[in-house]
Amino acid sequence: MNSFEKKDDLSFIHEAERVATEALCLKAHCGVVIVSGGKIIGRGSNGPAGDAVGDRKCHRIRSDVQNHVHDRTCCVHAEWRAIMDALKTHPEKVHGSTLYFARVDERGVPMYSGEPYCTVCSRLALDAKIAHFVLLHRDGMRSYDTREYNEISYRNIDARK
Ligand SMILES: [Zn+2]
Ligand SMILES: [Zn+2]
Repeated sequence: MNSFEKKDDLSFIHEAERVATEALCLKAHCGVVIVSGGKIIGRGSNGPAGDAVGDRKCHRIRSDVQNHVHDRTCCVHAEWRAIMDALKTHPEKVHGSTLYFARVDERGVPMYSGEPYCTVCSRLALDAKIAHFVLLHRDGMRSYDTREYNEISYRNIDARK
């Protein structure tokens, strides 16, 4: 809970919000930065694979994917992009790093995060040995241990079935 990257954690959320404004997805605009030792080592926003906007699946109706409750989205997730970016550019620093997630609306206005539910991202972060996952909730920022984040994500999707 208390393992923020110290004083800079709000600025990292703000940078994640800025990255989210670059998202090419038509449904949701998410941004992620990954931080190690007080420095950003990876960034990503959600969008179609390879940013090929002609390949967007954003308009698929939700019933097509509702059986896959761990991944209700259409695009490459911001977390995947940021993790790939960090692994490419700072492979030795990903272990023990902190992931900051933010979301903005279509006008770029920051939104609060809901409860964790994406078990694809939680498993990927766990597998990459990212130590903490930070979300901005209505009552403030919360840093989850990634293992805890993964467990909560599974609990939330099980509750939705
Ligand atoms: Zn999309
Ligand atoms: Zn995800």
